[in-house]
Amino acid sequence: MSGFEPLNDSSRKTNILNVFDMPDFDEHEAVHVFHDRATGLDMIVAVHNTARGSAVGGCRMWPYATGRAALADALRLAKGMSYKAALAQLPCGGGKSVVLGDARTVKTHTLLASIGRAVESLGGRYTIADDVGISAADVAIIAEHTRFACAPLMLDGTASPATAFGTYQGILATAAHVFGSEHLGGRTIAVQGLGAVGAKLCEYLAEAGADLWVSDLDDARTDEIERRWSATTVPVDEILYSAVDIMAPCAMGGIFDSESIKRLRCRAIAGAANNQLANAEAGLALAARGIAYAPDYAINVGGLIDLVHALTGNYQVAAVLEDCRRIHATTLDILERAAKTGLATSEVADQLAGQRLRGPASLGVAPLTGFA
Ligand code: NAD
Repeated sequence: MSGFEPLNDSSRKTNILNVFDMPDFDEHEAVHVFHDRATGLDMIVAVHNTARGSAVGGCRMWPYATGRAALADALRLAKGMSYKAALAQLPCGGGKSVVLGDARTVKTHTLLASIGRAVESLGGRYTIADDVGISAADVAIIAEHTRFACAPLMLDGTASPATAFGTYQGILATAAHVFGSEHLGGRTIAVQGLGAVGAKLCEYLAEAGADLWVSDLDDARTDEIERRWSATTVPVDEILYSAVDIMAPCAMGGIFDSESIKRLRCRAIAGAANNQLANAEAGLALAARGIAYAPDYAINVGGLIDLVHALTGNYQVAAVLEDCRRIHATTLDILERAAKTGLATSEVADQLAGQRLRGPASLGVAPLTGFA
């Protein structure tokens, strides 16, 4: 790995051997630390599990305060990708990379090239994609320096349309389980966050006849959805506690904790936001309150499905949508198992994903074809 050395800036330094003692370490297969003196790149690649195939996961560029914070994030996110891929039975493993730095000021063409060289040096163990701070356009530059880079291909070159479609499938399954019918006509559904995913999800829900309650920090977004779908705008600090049939969080994570769960008035939760549960206890608390929770990583996997299809080199929108439809069966399965066993849906999803992680033999590093 010529050109790369361990992190050497004392303000960012962390003892990489401490990784084994970190709470976020979960038998990760590999953690790679890169430093490129020429470009100033500081990057960590965490590969959690490759039993189902080479690790795929986004690259997050963020001004982490310490190397330890960056490492913890990489470990946590890589594990999340493994679980997401395994639950959806995708032929890939889970990994994630983090780049230390402010994408708005220090992200240059040469830095992206350096990221590409770092990924290439891993020989296909990890395939890089976009995430916070690294756009699909950045991935295209990275891909000039590695065969192991991939950007989503659907429609506008983002994963959000596939994510929204998959989330919609999860909502249909949740409705079928909770209300005995997936017919959404007249059902009240609250959508928190009207960004790339939330706005597209509103389209599916409105066309299915749902009565939309929506919220966003940006008034222009609520105005647009109100106008297009006759939605009702709810203040940002009230949307979570709306008395609706289904709550669809599509903004930030960590929103369900012991306090917020006490105040919920919805019958079910099914949305795209990542890491909605603030902690494991939150999943149990939702179950105790009889609120059906469709685990976030079960129903927001559409974007990853899109990426995996892009990696095959034979990308077809219809095939992506067909695979996203499988989210319906997975969600129903989780909800039914939880009802039968008395476990929380979050526990069921984690158990299923854990079993599937140890599933079929490795597909090796070969199948990933790189950026098409
Ligand atoms: P986005 O940035 O396009 O949209 C997020 C929207 O949420 C913005 O409009 C923002 O103003 C709004 N928002 C932020 N805080 C809010 C609050 N407190 N109340 C109401 N609105 C608020 O993001 P996105 O791509 O639509 O992703 C939405 C969520 O789904 C994120 O949690 C993301 O991690 C998750 N997710 C996205 C994808 C994808 O393909 N984009 C895939 C999997 C998971």
